[in-house]
Amino acid sequence: MVVGVIVNSTAKTLNRVFDYVVPKKLEKIIKIGDRVSIPFGNSKKSKEGFVIEIKESSSFATKEIIGIEKDGLTEDRMILAKLMSRRYFCNIFDCIKLMLPPGTTSSNIDNRIKEKMGNFVYLNKEVDEIEEDIEDGTIKSAKQIRILEFLKENSGVYISDLEMYTDTSRAIIKTLEKNEYIQIIEENIDRNPFALKEVPRDKKLDLTKEQQDAFDSVNEAISQDKFEEFLIYGVTGSGKTEIYLQLIQKVLEKGKTAIMLVPEISLTPQMVNRFLARFGNCISVLHSKLSIGERYDAFKKIKSGESKIVIGARSAIFAPVQNLGILIIDEEHDASYKSDMSPRYNAKDIAKYICKTNNAPLVLGSATPDVKTFYKAKEGKIKLLELTKRANNSNLPKVEIVDLRQELANGNKSMISEKLKTYIEENIKNKKQTILFLNRRGFSTFVMCRDCGFTAKCKNCNITLTYHRNENKLKCHYCGFETKNITICPICHSKNVRYFGAGTQKLEEEVQKMFPGIKTIRMDVDTITKKNSHERILEQFKNDDIDVLIGTQMVVKGHHFPNVTLVGVISADASLNIEDYRAGERTFQILTQVAGRAGREKLPGKVVIQTYNKDNYSIEYAKEQNYTKFYNSEIMMRQSLNYPPFCDIIQFGISSKNEVQARKNSKLIHEELKKEFNIIKNQVLIYESVPAPINKIKNNYRYRIIMKCRFNNNIIDLINNVLERFYKRNIKDTRLLIDVNPNNMM
Ligand code: ADP
Ligand code: ZN
Ligand code: ZN
Repeated sequence: MVVGVIVNSTAKTLNRVFDYVVPKKLEKIIKIGDRVSIPFGNSKKSKEGFVIEIKESSSFATKEIIGIEKDGLTEDRMILAKLMSRRYFCNIFDCIKLMLPPGTTSSNIDNRIKEKMGNFVYLNKEVDEIEEDIEDGTIKSAKQIRILEFLKENSGVYISDLEMYTDTSRAIIKTLEKNEYIQIIEENIDRNPFALKEVPRDKKLDLTKEQQDAFDSVNEAISQDKFEEFLIYGVTGSGKTEIYLQLIQKVLEKGKTAIMLVPEISLTPQMVNRFLARFGNCISVLHSKLSIGERYDAFKKIKSGESKIVIGARSAIFAPVQNLGILIIDEEHDASYKSDMSPRYNAKDIAKYICKTNNAPLVLGSATPDVKTFYKAKEGKIKLLELTKRANNSNLPKVEIVDLRQELANGNKSMISEKLKTYIEENIKNKKQTILFLNRRGFSTFVMCRDCGFTAKCKNCNITLTYHRNENKLKCHYCGFETKNITICPICHSKNVRYFGAGTQKLEEEVQKMFPGIKTIRMDVDTITKKNSHERILEQFKNDDIDVLIGTQMVVKGHHFPNVTLVGVISADASLNIEDYRAGERTFQILTQVAGRAGREKLPGKVVIQTYNKDNYSIEYAKEQNYTKFYNSEIMMRQSLNYPPFCDIIQFGISSKNEVQARKNSKLIHEELKKEFNIIKNQVLIYESVPAPINKIKNNYRYRIIMKCRFNNNIIDLINNVLERFYKRNIKDTRLLIDVNPNNMM
């Protein structure tokens, strides 16, 4: 028996199958997906690999497998890794890596996370017997008694915790062990972030008619164990989450498991608590803020079936659940479901594959669905379930537009219009809360010379440097380069150097000046760098008497603040001016989401959107909060310009430290593509290679080629042919990255 093995290595040259002979004693147990140690090359040290195929014989197999290790993959996952590597044009091992338990990907055993062991203390005698000994004075020490009393309630406690809770010492615990009252056992410590968290349990709510209809549709697929794709399109606050909770309940009753994906930023304690309250401790949360040990332990509990529900950001799609019964993707329009790093996968595509292979329904949910998803729903490929009303009968907020051009003409140069100012004032007086949202996508504070137009740029990246006020420095967001702020123009030596673009700090200052003495809090990338600070800010805003929350994108997602009645959008325009065909969609989504934060309960909500583009359709329909109208305009534009969903956009990025090489190779790839696609040239559009909009990042010169077509298996094969030829040329100093429907077109 022979197995084909993928080596644990990210080197392009090792991205192929190596054959090994299986020793007799392993023949019966070896499976596809197994992690195996293997001899490799001339190295004395063994290497590690993953079994990708099993066959009778091979003329290449000369060496034997050494052994099977733990933490391998299942066969299903191995098949998925193989498919992904073809579809996303990357190494198979890069895909395997996404599916391995966190902290176990290194090929060096010494660099891997291990189970954390610790000493746990248990009672070693019957409670009656112990009580007798205390009563008759056999045990006299107050400290010993405290320990025993504590253990009566909590047998099996971690030794350090026991010392802490009882205010005793290791020596006293040891004495009790010697006298055989207790037993100390070494066990695996569960690094569970909510181990000590007690959330009061709640019960399911009675669904509204609309909710019930949506629930019934999905539940039918659940009870028939069949794959079907659904879109729950429901306005903000329409009770989508309640439907998810009840669907998951059904799945658990069938003895199955569930995965729910949410955008990283909406993975707040508020949201997790709703799940803890409904299901208790059988949930695992996976996200990047957890320690690697916590994630490792969560993976283990998911794999063993102890955790039945997984909630997590994008990469949780690869959680090793057994017997999946439903997969839910909340806020399905969110850009974070598409990975910008290799493998450049879209979690929605993976989700569909996983649901199909598990005969489980896939539920997408959003108040502002991805135009592509809605198009599929209209075509009938996805079943559309609509919620038009808020679940708690609160009304959608009233939205007003302020024309900033007019405001400027009236002589108001501040960031806050007269109307917004009046509303904030009212809100402060009535002790209601306000959120001010600064739309800053592709927008930041930079310095410019007013005399010659010089702007400070990063010397590695050809990107405008951002001004950081706290440190009085200029920084590059791409490579981290930083330099002292300039006050004199290096070109014309003028002192007329000024800051452009307003940030949250400046906004906070203006608000403070306008309303002296009020309490404000700020949430942006600068204030949330520490672990949990994002949650702390939100908790503070909810509980303390803070008048105004000022923030960027982060304030937009899924939060529920009952006392917020006013949302002000300082400028809606930044996201309209990005170089991307999705600018209108992103703007509409963000405005609708942020407006949805206002008046979520009994108090009516008000929203003020300030803009220089009041006639733009994304802004106009965001004012009406009318997704359907927005969609109808947007889809017509997409069709006339042949953008997704009418085609896919494949981006080839070519980069090199050597500018000549970058240009030369990008031309070469362009020619190769033309040649390869010649037979189906009427189905594809291949643009010339051009310098990327950001033509230099970290000293790498960047070119790109855009191709428009329907991305399908045939296209995948042809692109892989081109890649194979490109890598055969062994071009060392040029990188080629392929991204299908990329988030970022820069
Ligand atoms: P969404 O996920 O669509 O934003 P949520 O599920 O968070 O909506 O619901 C919004 C609010 O309405 C929450 O406070 C929730 O508890 C409440 N809610 C949801 N469904 C019902 C229901 N059937 N009856 C009463 N209140 C509900
Ligand atoms: Zn100048
Ligand atoms: Zn830089």
